[in-house]
Amino acid sequence: MNIANKKYDVVIIGSGLGGMVCGTILSKEGKRVCIIEKNEQIGGSLQTFRREGVTFDTGVHYIGGLDKENSLYKIFTYLGIMQRLETVKMDEQGFDVVLFKDDVEEYPYGMGYENFKRILLSKFQEEQTAIETYCNDMKRICNSVPLYNLKAGEPQDMFSFTTGVKQYIEQLTANTKLQNVLAGTNLLYAGTEKTPLYVHALVVNSYIESAYKIKNGGDQIVKLMARIIKENGGEILRKRKVKSIDVENGIAKCVTLCSGEKIDAELFISNIHPARTLELTDTEAIRPVYRNRIKSLENSISTFVLYLILKPNTFPFRNRNYYYFKDDNVWSCVDYKPEDFPVMYAMFEEVPEHQNKFTEAMTVMTYMRFDEVEKWKDTFHTTVEENNRNEEYQEFKTQKAEALLDAMEVKFPNIRSCIQSYYTSSPLSYRDYMGTDDGNMYGIVNDFNDPMKTMISAKTKVPNLLLTGQNLNLHGVLGVTESALVTCSVVLGMEYLLNKISEANA
Ligand SMILES: Cc1cc2nc3c(=O)[nH]c(=O)nc-3n(C[C@H](O)[C@H](O)[C@H](O)COP(=O)(O)OP(=O)(O)OC[C@H]3O[C@@H](n4cnc5c(N)ncnc54)[C@H](O)[C@@H]3O)c2cc1C
Repeated sequence: MNIANKKYDVVIIGSGLGGMVCGTILSKEGKRVCIIEKNEQIGGSLQTFRREGVTFDTGVHYIGGLDKENSLYKIFTYLGIMQRLETVKMDEQGFDVVLFKDDVEEYPYGMGYENFKRILLSKFQEEQTAIETYCNDMKRICNSVPLYNLKAGEPQDMFSFTTGVKQYIEQLTANTKLQNVLAGTNLLYAGTEKTPLYVHALVVNSYIESAYKIKNGGDQIVKLMARIIKENGGEILRKRKVKSIDVENGIAKCVTLCSGEKIDAELFISNIHPARTLELTDTEAIRPVYRNRIKSLENSISTFVLYLILKPNTFPFRNRNYYYFKDDNVWSCVDYKPEDFPVMYAMFEEVPEHQNKFTEAMTVMTYMRFDEVEKWKDTFHTTVEENNRNEEYQEFKTQKAEALLDAMEVKFPNIRSCIQSYYTSSPLSYRDYMGTDDGNMYGIVNDFNDPMKTMISAKTKVPNLLLTGQNLNLHGVLGVTESALVTCSVVLGMEYLLNKISEANA
């Protein structure tokens, strides 16, 4: 294909969810879209891989807000994918279950606030006021963010932006166990003492509203979008890496690929990390002070993941996720000591492909900082570029996998006997596939101490270069989809887009 002579309206760098949502919206609006992806597979964190006949998700294990009245359902309907998306609703009596090493009790999160309250109250009879207040506060905070409810306007409740979730929960109740249970799914946003309350509220609320798994892999979402983009005349170029965004007289003219090819467009949208975007854009239009600010922002922690293939008919499918903690301080996990690894894990069952009573595969995630794999930082491995990692790295991963399995045995004593085989990934895998510096999971860390510092606008000083993706407002399928609305609103207007969504759901 000779792309050099083609003229596009919009070039999108990266086919992560943000890039794909922008591509879908703009192609529906008649723009000629070209998405450039460095990997073989599209989707960024939504990529999947197959081993021994089962599909594993790498970065999306369940999604909140897919009931008919929820925002994500409405946006997906407008995009044209909801009708074809194969989903499985999780267990309404406990889609997430929080576990602690030295506590035989299980703490399930019920779906819907009534279930959520009832189940928690059965575990914490004395804590009715705290539980009621928590639920009311979560709903109030979410209602105060207009876009979350598909309305135009700025967030109203600055308290949730300038208050830490840890601090908030500690003021709610003196019961340490309840505090830890309410924060027990904080891996979903890599929670630390800096995490603003609104991040917790928007993420947790979306799952309490409704929690779904995607059948046969989360990449279904981007595959459906790719089909729509192509039907609308757009193109997706895989295995093509953008080397630079070329700016002349303050206006972006084209992107240059590592292959040397150049692609022109009227508008450019970068779906990659903002710090990386700026590295690709050598122009005085973007001031050093902005570059330094973006470069100095802290990224979230990375992850070590264990992918288990289970023997047939050994592990009943529970349709629940489990979040396990070694001790009672769920906020310190990100700062774990390597010798204590793992201090927590989250266990996600993949939806069985062949029957529905037994789990065929599961993914187990725990935190891992990049410094644990620093030794191998000069190696690289994706399906596009070759592996040059050594035996020592494989041994390191095996050691970590075995430590994780030891931790799992505390609550699932028979787990080892259910395993047919396993695979692992480390921060290096996420770094190489996502094109970040450190394999971070959720992009830039939000900090309630200085909320404005980590708010990144979709606009840049180059008027036809926009940003999108998890670094903008919020990560996750819901957060990134809404960030893409913000990006597209620069071109189309937010009122216009919200009307389109409303019409599609009428
Ligand atoms: C381990 C893990 C588990 C998660 N679990 C969940 C979950 O259960 N539920 C949920 O809602 N969210 C989950 N998330 C979060 C969610 O997956 C992400 O927030 C979201 O997918 C990020 O999308 P993005 O648009 O920012 O792009 P990314 O996924 O970061 O994609 C960026 C794309 O840009 C490409 N790229 C980079 N550089 C270049 C270049 N120079 N040229 C061309 N292409 C380039 C990359 O290859 C990649 O495809 C999880 C994330 C991780 C990491």
